[in-house]
Amino acid sequence: MMNTTLEPWQTADIEDARIVARQRRERERRDEEERHAKWLAVKTKMEAKLGAKREKLLAARAQEQGKAALVANEGPGWKVATRPQVPHEALEQLARNVIALAFHEAPLLPDWRFRWADLSGVRALGLCVPSAKLICVDEPLALAGSGALGRKMLLGTLSHEIAHALLPVGESHGEQFKRTLGSINDVVLADDDVAAAPAASASPRPELAKGVMFSGKRVESPGAGEWEFR
Ligand SMILES: [Zn+2]
Repeated sequence: MMNTTLEPWQTADIEDARIVARQRRERERRDEEERHAKWLAVKTKMEAKLGAKREKLLAARAQEQGKAALVANEGPGWKVATRPQVPHEALEQLARNVIALAFHEAPLLPDWRFRWADLSGVRALGLCVPSAKLICVDEPLALAGSGALGRKMLLGTLSHEIAHALLPVGESHGEQFKRTLGSINDVVLADDDVAAAPAASASPRPELAKGVMFSGKRVESPGAGEWEFR
């Protein structure tokens, strides 16, 4: 019969081996913890660095956007109306109707804004600001016009600026511009289905209504100098 009972020296050896194994595991666990702590420290430091960098970047971007917003709403000689008599949305809608009509419902210039403005500083009825993706119409002048002529002036101004917006900046009033504007006007100025121009109850500059002539590209107002499309 085999004696399976372990001798005391054998037991001691096993106990030793267990202790050694436990100590080794303990040491490994501590090493692992240490490595983890080190990695965590590096990670935290890196995250802090990246966070600071990101924050700086965001701040710079916000500042840029603030500047861009400022540029977008005013420039030398022009300023988007802060309290227009007719809501900006009405002008925007009219412009969208013009585009839809002229270009067979193609949703052109989707990210452009159409705003009433004071353009007296640039002596213009309309202004196209490609850098700000903005088309301005002088509100006092546009609302001073009345009846069919006033409506034609407003539509003509919008068409003119839309043509500018659709073409490269360098095109200016070149041949391509004339063709584009002509094709828009053929549809827009001949069609009576474009939503009626928004009307205002009172005009802030009625004196300019008298003698304002629409002559294709230029609007002349005796006594107030010459106003022209930009
Ligand atoms: Zn022009």
